[in-house]
Amino acid sequence: MTAHGVPFMTLEPGEDRVAIDEAIRRVVDRGRFVLGPELEAFEAEFAAACGTEHAIGVGNGTDAIGLVLQALGIRPGDEVITTPLSAAYTTLAVMMAGARPVFADIDPKRLTLNPDAVEAAVGPKTAAILPVHIYGQPADMVALAGVAGRHHLALVEDCCQAHFATAAGRPVGTFGAAGAFSFYPTKNLGALGDAGAVVTSNGPLAEKLKRLRNGGQLDRYVHVEAGRNSRLDEIQAAILRARLPLLAAWTERRRALAAVYRRELAGAPVSVPPECDRGHVYHLFPVRARERERLQAHLSACGIETLIHYPIPIPRQPLLAGASTDECPVADSVCAEVLSLPLHHKVPERDVLKVTAAIRSFGRT
Ligand SMILES: *Cc1c(COP(=O)(O)O)cnc(C)c1O
Repeated sequence: MTAHGVPFMTLEPGEDRVAIDEAIRRVVDRGRFVLGPELEAFEAEFAAACGTEHAIGVGNGTDAIGLVLQALGIRPGDEVITTPLSAAYTTLAVMMAGARPVFADIDPKRLTLNPDAVEAAVGPKTAAILPVHIYGQPADMVALAGVAGRHHLALVEDCCQAHFATAAGRPVGTFGAAGAFSFYPTKNLGALGDAGAVVTSNGPLAEKLKRLRNGGQLDRYVHVEAGRNSRLDEIQAAILRARLPLLAAWTERRRALAAVYRRELAGAPVSVPPECDRGHVYHLFPVRARERERLQAHLSACGIETLIHYPIPIPRQPLLAGASTDECPVADSVCAEVLSLPLHHKVPERDVLKVTAAIRSFGRT
């Protein structure tokens, strides 16, 4: 990236640098690194911030989803209806639980699971619905909870891109059995390594998840079920505690930058993502362009880094070749057109203006 370029994202700590250094030193000086006081405190603080009774820290977001499905008793032979437009890890978590992913198409505006398509995909083997609040835009949880209720299905939310988002005014992760979060460094709330959490207000489910993340141990060295080794370590928990108080302001910053993009791109040769719920937290800002590859090359020539989320709908991943015949034409066309522009709490507004000027100049070439 040139000195005048706009990187997609920078991950060095900024205003949180001192608090992070202090958090790491605290853990190192204490000499306790797994399942200690930082994790316990972070779990209480994160649950409170999400409006749930419990949070359970785990190794990453994929495990958060997979462990919830396992804890709910989803097993081989079961089907989980999910979205074709997500990080493939959503589907990998379903497969880790031994279940078969079934793909329902997305809503063409919201880009999240279409509740009517989900309803049509429900069959005798369906055990759960797994919506994703993709890009930070909440799925239509009121309608999806209705479908889950009518068919007695478990509802698990993939909130990995939606920290602090609300759907119809209610925090994501609170509509069904549980919500799964990732704190991968690029997420709205990121650790300095891998980390994840489940939020739930179901006490027995929380207890089961605490066992499952720790090898299925009931007591030390007493394993009662086939758990996993997936714990959120003390250093990452302490770093997340340092950052959590800043997240509300960072989220407002993302919303403000999204508003600048929206204003400056009015009439430009791209379409901006619609805001279907005021609880959108803008993890990403994917515009749609018919000539996406040419636009990306033009922006790159202007020193602007962009990424594609995601180039391949999950049912078309080589991994699923032959295994999935689900047709998702809306997701197919979205994956061919989306281009994520730089948006992060640390992106200066002047960089956003550089990006929008470059996009407008693309229209004139
Ligand atoms: C990041 C992400 C995941 C996986 O989280 P990891 O912490 O990387 O395992 C799952 N689903 C979505 C939508 C994500 O963005």
